[in-house]
Amino acid sequence: NDGAPSNFIRHLIDQDLASGKHDGRVQTRFPPEPNGFLHIGHAKSICLNFGLAERYGAQAAAACNLRFDDTNPAKEEQTFIDAIQADIEWLGFEWAGDIRYTSDYFVYLYEFALQLIKNGKAYVDSLTPEEAREYRGTLTEPGKESPYRNRSVEESLDLFKRMQAGEFADGEHSLRARIDMASPNINMRDPVIYRIRKLVHHQTGDTWNVYPMYDYAHCISDALEHVTHSLCTLEFEDHRPLYNWILDNLEIESVENACRELGNFDDAPRYVLPGQTEFARLNINYTVLSKRKLKELVDLQHVSGWDDPRMPTISGLRRRGYTPTAIRHFCDIIGMGRSDSIVDVGMLEHSIREDLDATASRAMCVLRPLKVTLLNVDADHEQMLHLPKHPKQDMGTRDVPFGKTIYIDQTDFEEEPPKGFKRLMPGTEVRLRGSYVIRCDEIIKDSDGNVVELKCTVDLDTLGKNPEGRKVKGVIHWVPAEAAIEAEVRVYDRLFNEANPNDKTHGDFKNCLNPDSLQVLTGCLVEPSLASAKAGDSFQFEREGYYCVDSKDSTPEKPVFNRTVSLRDSWGK
Ligand code: ATP
Ligand code: MG
Ligand code: MG
Repeated sequence: NDGAPSNFIRHLIDQDLASGKHDGRVQTRFPPEPNGFLHIGHAKSICLNFGLAERYGAQAAAACNLRFDDTNPAKEEQTFIDAIQADIEWLGFEWAGDIRYTSDYFVYLYEFALQLIKNGKAYVDSLTPEEAREYRGTLTEPGKESPYRNRSVEESLDLFKRMQAGEFADGEHSLRARIDMASPNINMRDPVIYRIRKLVHHQTGDTWNVYPMYDYAHCISDALEHVTHSLCTLEFEDHRPLYNWILDNLEIESVENACRELGNFDDAPRYVLPGQTEFARLNINYTVLSKRKLKELVDLQHVSGWDDPRMPTISGLRRRGYTPTAIRHFCDIIGMGRSDSIVDVGMLEHSIREDLDATASRAMCVLRPLKVTLLNVDADHEQMLHLPKHPKQDMGTRDVPFGKTIYIDQTDFEEEPPKGFKRLMPGTEVRLRGSYVIRCDEIIKDSDGNVVELKCTVDLDTLGKNPEGRKVKGVIHWVPAEAAIEAEVRVYDRLFNEANPNDKTHGDFKNCLNPDSLQVLTGCLVEPSLASAKAGDSFQFEREGYYCVDSKDSTPEKPVFNRTVSLRDSWGK
């Protein structure tokens, strides 16, 4: 319905709908761990999971849950929970019902653990973490069974309850699934499913002294929410046998009952277990997409915060001037494959450029002002010019006063121009955008020889028409001296200057940080119509690029603009 290319996940769902496997239901979930801000990689997963719910809504009972995967209280914070919700809403997606937390299911997860122990499918192990690592084996060598593996059911039950009661220290015991220490898949070598963690949890306080491991909690949470398609990134492919093992080894009626108790089994005719499908994670060149690494940049103050406009976080992109439309379009065009690849950041830039070209009002901003006095302009010629906000769309006009003194950009004047220079030079003409043709008659320099002012003559018969008998090729932007507003402009470049900062040959990824990723220009001048610009508003500064009002630091007295993206892709050229 939106022209997005189909993909293997949609084919799978189409098949499942056709075969009636899930009784006409499509239930997905987006399960972030609240240990950082979301990045553009998460946007791919959000667009996929929420996008499927939107897409199949017409033909199926389709919905997407938001579930905070909060099983590791050591790294999680409420700030992250709030920021993640804001980002998903900003992208324009809606989750089904209330927000869910894996911690909502801790009681069930604990009950199921007792059930696995009773059925001989799990045991309390008492190897030290170092011993356990040694016993696990390697890719080429099978693991070794723990001497505690054949503990009686009663002893394991007793120990597990006492682990939860707080009788033991972190690491003293763990609960492991009894699967196969000789499995070629290391994930199946009696994985730990519960560990002791004596920490206060942001949702459950000090109720728990044991916390479930991701692999154990994730599949059961999916099952409790009656998820049909559990979509995750490729690195979990090897975990799929464990996902299935855990669900297959629980008593299905107890899962079904818990799902019903939670109100997630109201409108389905049958209970059906979820299935996991993997897709390639998004990688983009010239950046890093890992919360751990992004957190490091924040903590070490290489950036101003998670929402620094150079960050590939959703909040950073938003502050940079990216729109939900551009991000969603980007997620559509990168496709949904099953092999890892690195997407060119140019594709992301292309998406926002295309969106802003169509939607952003035009405006003039002089980044490096050079004063120009128009010799033959006097009070009689002062007037209000009405320039279109957009060359193609009917967005109305903006008022730009024209008078005796204006500013142009220093780079639009050359005393000794290189060949092919089409802007202003001594004795030649150029058109002022939306205004008259001017000719440069005189150059004023300071004692160091710097050009500080130009004196020009206006051809007063050229407003909205070509001059008589000659062609004027160059058009430059300008602002009126008196009415212009002084602004700070932050010109952003790529955060890293190596295509793959993760490549170990560079050593630490931080060695690849681009020292010139932020250039702050002060004393810039913008046209007076921007006095009413609000935080987040986007503009095409004509001939310069796309800019937005910074949402944190900009004030009416001291406006700050962020460069979202250049007009054309000139990087590396
Ligand atoms: P990170 O490595 O950055 O910490 P994560 O996978 O640990 O990411 P989660 O909060 O667990 O972060 O991610 C929530 C969901 O987003 C998961 O389903 C995960 O697979 C998906 N996701 C995370 N990073 C990417 C990515 N780069 N591309 C696509 N999906 C991603
Ligand atoms: Mg994760
Ligand atoms: Mg992670």
